[in-house]
Amino acid sequence: MARNLDPKCRQCRREGEKLFLKAEKCFTDKCAMERRAYAPGQHGQRSGQRLSGYGVQLREKQKIRRLYGVLERQFRKVYVEADRRRGQTGENLLQLLEGRLDSVAYRMGFGGSRAEARQVVRHNGVLINGKRVNIPSYVVRPGDVVELTERVRGHLRVKAALQAAESRGFPEWLEVDTKAGKGVFKAYPLRAELPPTINEGLVVELYSR
Ligand code: SF4
Repeated sequence: MARNLDPKCRQCRREGEKLFLKAEKCFTDKCAMERRAYAPGQHGQRSGQRLSGYGVQLREKQKIRRLYGVLERQFRKVYVEADRRRGQTGENLLQLLEGRLDSVAYRMGFGGSRAEARQVVRHNGVLINGKRVNIPSYVVRPGDVVELTERVRGHLRVKAALQAAESRGFPEWLEVDTKAGKGVFKAYPLRAELPPTINEGLVVELYSR
């Protein structure tokens, strides 16, 4: 399976934003964006670099891809599906990304980061409506019940991730029972419920060029 092997904090610094790729570290002052909030590399601190319109669109697409941990080819596929669906392509794109099983598992606190949650999925740790699903890109549908298997529920790391997620609060579109290690994906999130720092319109512009 192809993966993005770039160091995680470097990805955040490149995008100039916290992408929360490293579980608990992201919420401490050890976060690289708290210490070195400039682009990586020799010229990272050079000011006054202007991006072209294309450059801005490209950066935003890369940022969203990195945030959700999706490689280019798969991201493009999600975009095609978003464009095919009724409604606004940009909003559909974000909803489909949030509906991915690895993303739902992360939001439910089954892993401290999307990468950790993806590993739980790949290692047969998650059931959807009682059936084992180990495909991180599987798109969860509204009403689906997503739960941890009994084996995984006892893992200390998973327990810690569930507790941390509970203390931060779960998003509106999920209903989670942390004790049972189980949740319901109530609906696709509304645009207003997702971070305002994402500009999905730039991705639509980029792919419509
Ligand atoms: Fe990004 Fe987390 Fe690293 Fe901070 S600690 S730079 S949010 S991956």
